[in-house]
Amino acid sequence: MKRRPLIVQKFGGTSVGTIERMQNVARLVAGEYRSGHDVVVVASAMAGETNRLIELAHLASPDPEPRELDCLLTTGEQVSVALLSMILNQMGIPARSILGFQMGMHTDTAHTKARIVALDRARFEASIDERIVLVAAGFQGIAPDGHLTTLGRGGSDTTAVAIAAELDADFCDIYTDVDGVYTADPNVCPDARRLERISYEEMLELASTGAKVLQIRSVELGMKYNVPLRVRSSFSGGPGTLVVKEEAAMEDVLVAGVACDKNEAKISLRAVADRPGMAALIFTPLAEANIVVDMIIQNVALDGTTDVTFTVPRTDLKQALAVMNRASSALGIQRIESDDRIAKISVVGVGMRSHAGVATTMFRALSDEGINIQMISTSEIKISGVIEAKDADRAQRALHAAFGLARAPSASTPRGTKPKTAVAKKGTVAKPKRGSTATKRKRAR
Ligand code: ASP
Ligand code: MG
Repeated sequence: MKRRPLIVQKFGGTSVGTIERMQNVARLVAGEYRSGHDVVVVASAMAGETNRLIELAHLASPDPEPRELDCLLTTGEQVSVALLSMILNQMGIPARSILGFQMGMHTDTAHTKARIVALDRARFEASIDERIVLVAAGFQGIAPDGHLTTLGRGGSDTTAVAIAAELDADFCDIYTDVDGVYTADPNVCPDARRLERISYEEMLELASTGAKVLQIRSVELGMKYNVPLRVRSSFSGGPGTLVVKEEAAMEDVLVAGVACDKNEAKISLRAVADRPGMAALIFTPLAEANIVVDMIIQNVALDGTTDVTFTVPRTDLKQALAVMNRASSALGIQRIESDDRIAKISVVGVGMRSHAGVATTMFRALSDEGINIQMISTSEIKISGVIEAKDADRAQRALHAAFGLARAPSASTPRGTKPKTAVAKKGTVAKPKRGSTATKRKRAR
């Protein structure tokens, strides 16, 4: 039987923040439904609700059990999906709310940051066959022991992509309060441009470097199952930004965007013994405490000791310091220092694979602004630097300008333009390269 096109529509907290806004959302759902599409809706909790619940939990206990926290947090989405279903039904669109455990959203037991293990498609298919719109609660699942779980902040995106992947949806539309993915945060760079398309990989790097449009895991899932994602605004309409597999033309552009992450903190371990196994001793207890380490720098050893510096999420800093203090005597660490007034600034673009000189342009732009770089890390399509938090906005604007990302007066450069210093050959950081660089360069010019 030929299937109708299936669209998963996910609405974030601001989009369902009031009854009025839910009515607006319901009109978007009705539009797709009435044009003959099958629709599954995923909703977040009403704006501010998850934060309110977390605050309540901390009034109840200084250290709430993660299991109880999850039980509490899932109520936010329960409210929004029920209300949204009522509004849809009222408008004549047959709709039914469905919670995580009802849809068989099976997760592991890692409360507050659970991972999806499996999803029952049968329940969805039955409703789709009956032309009923399921309004699914985002962010929540059920562990093997029957307890409710949540997928981490922003987890409704991941719910939506998981459903879209399982049902082989034609599109997964992520409706939010911005009308797409931008070359930089428009609040910081007023001339930032909306990107028409971006690759999963670039989106992943942008999401992990502070552009908080999509939850990272939703992009990973989308990439793994090749789900076409659209980031759109529920307020302004418009095509949004399409997140898809990398396309050849994407490499013509050096840098797709600039991102800034102010949610990290830096820990330095001074005079760590320079012996085999030390790095494992440092990072194993952090991993066991579920703390995600981002950048790591180990200095060249002098006098048989070395300094190790790394970054962790700012919210995990206290715990990470406690873990390191416990481990310090075994490691012979002489001093532990930390700094949470840092920002990580990154430039991202698949074009870096085939163009040299991106690092040079970035470092020169920061140097021209008198901004000091404390740590540097690179991946194939990203260069990040840790700087002082107070310099973050200035750095973003300088990089946005240096890479020619500003809104172009003509439409001739769809994803940004090359900087004047493009393909400088004397890059100080050798970027790993793949394939025939020479031919790619030629094509890119
Ligand atoms: N309500 C949850 C949060 O605020 C999940 C989500 O919005 O995606 O993090
Ligand atoms: Mg969100």
